[in-house]
Amino acid sequence: MNCGECVYGCTDVVLRTTLQKFGVEVTYADTTNLESVEAAIKENTKLIYFESLTNPTMELTDIAAISKLAHEKGILVAVDNTFTPPPEVYPLKEGADIVLHSCTKYINGHGDVISGAIIGSTELITPIRKGVTSKICGTTPSPFNSFLLLRGLQTMELCMARHCENGMAFATLG
Ligand SMILES: *Cc1c(COP(=O)(O)O)cnc(C)c1O
Repeated sequence: MNCGECVYGCTDVVLRTTLQKFGVEVTYADTTNLESVEAAIKENTKLIYFESLTNPTMELTDIAAISKLAHEKGILVAVDNTFTPPPEVYPLKEGADIVLHSCTKYINGHGDVISGAIIGSTELITPIRKGVTSKICGTTPSPFNSFLLLRGLQTMELCMARHCENGMAFATLG
């Protein structure tokens, strides 16, 4: 597996400790630089994983360019899109195979649910749903948390527009 140099702290822990126990080898690359990604690809690389906008360093990665490179070599691309959710960035349209979201953040929008989502083709997601993850990792949300998430989604588009407006005002402060 090939991973962006900067990923969310807990993701880094999973990659460096949990996955190592299952024999998953992780190489790191600067995903803002296509040559760095290409150089880090090994014979056994099956997945390239990165954040569309990194937490916390705020670096953007060209999803389409990495997806093209990966697919030429038969490698899958997974993007953590937590910081640039719809209607901002649609990684699947850019060519990624799997998209992840922490729904704890913008998707819930009210700071009162811990949740996540993984999105992709039926072929890729079915083994995750039917296998270990949904059965023993506590990934099934409660009805109440699901209700809170659906409530958040109803105003998400408006909230994202305001987040972007505020962000731009802040970025362009004299
Ligand atoms: C917060 C965050 C996560 C993890 O989210 P939780 O829902 O708090 O577990 C994963 N990836 C990124 C980019 C995040 O910012």
